[in-house]
Amino acid sequence: MNHGQRTIIAAAAAAAALVLLGGCGSVEDAAEGSSTTSSGTRLAVVATTAEVADFVRTIGGSDVTVTQMIKPNVDPHDYEPTPADIQAIGKAAIVVKNGVGLEGWLDQTISSAGFKGTVVDSSQGVTLREGGHEEGEGAQEAEAHDPHIWHNPLNAQTMVANIEKSLATADPAHAAAFAGNLKTYTAELDKLDADNEAAFARIPAEQRKLVTNHDAFGYYVDRYKLQFVGSVIPSLDTSAELSAKQLNDLVAKIKATGTKAIFAETSLPPKSAEAIATQAGVKVIGGADALYGDSIGAEGTPQGTYLGAERHNTQVIVTALGG
Ligand SMILES: [Zn+2]
Repeated sequence: MNHGQRTIIAAAAAAAALVLLGGCGSVEDAAEGSSTTSSGTRLAVVATTAEVADFVRTIGGSDVTVTQMIKPNVDPHDYEPTPADIQAIGKAAIVVKNGVGLEGWLDQTISSAGFKGTVVDSSQGVTLREGGHEEGEGAQEAEAHDPHIWHNPLNAQTMVANIEKSLATADPAHAAAFAGNLKTYTAELDKLDADNEAAFARIPAEQRKLVTNHDAFGYYVDRYKLQFVGSVIPSLDTSAELSAKQLNDLVAKIKATGTKAIFAETSLPPKSAEAIATQAGVKVIGGADALYGDSIGAEGTPQGTYLGAERHNTQVIVTALGG
């Protein structure tokens, strides 16, 4: 054994000792002040959707590194994982998913990555809505559950509680920090819910009518007692298209119910919504006012967090319906 080999082995042993000591927190805490390489001791988590990634960042804080697979304003229903995603999953301790069948592409990706860690289904314990609306009685639609669970802040509370539990199990040394973050965030979700309730309470019940781009807002509609009139893509995913008859029916329904607007979504092209709005003689709420149906905003913007995106949605909807 020459000197170089001995040095490498000594360095490896020192690194292993650091990893072991890192579990108690003291080495890591000391390293944080003086070095930028302390990420080596952080829990590596891959999160699928923008919402779930935001939850993991919020609960994990500086004790986890989060790789978010689906970028802001990208449609999660037909997402195609990248080689970088597979690489990140291969190195992760935990993969957190939304669940309820939203990430149909995930199992294949996980097996490609040879991932042996824990997959956390953040939807565990959420009461699911049945899929399929009266517009689409297709056999496959009737079987599905609605995956857009996060649009009810109480469901989001369940999701972050599941995430906190998994982080604490994987990294017990930081369990107290995770629990503290969960407590703070749960209170913020309570406030979001109360503010949403208060905002809709100012709009007469008969004006609370929603036409959206796809069926993303079922849990929101249920929670805040809105009337769901229909959607441009009458489906829980984003692949369906209205038939000519369905299109005419939706236009007729918008007119008959006195619905004021169609809400576009940030992750979907507004074209069909605009065509229907023109026929029905109503406006499309889009552009900067488009709703965050399947995503949250770009990082660093006010809508770049779950809370910011949800507050944007309620503000836009209430303004359009109440005006
Ligand atoms: Zn969706």
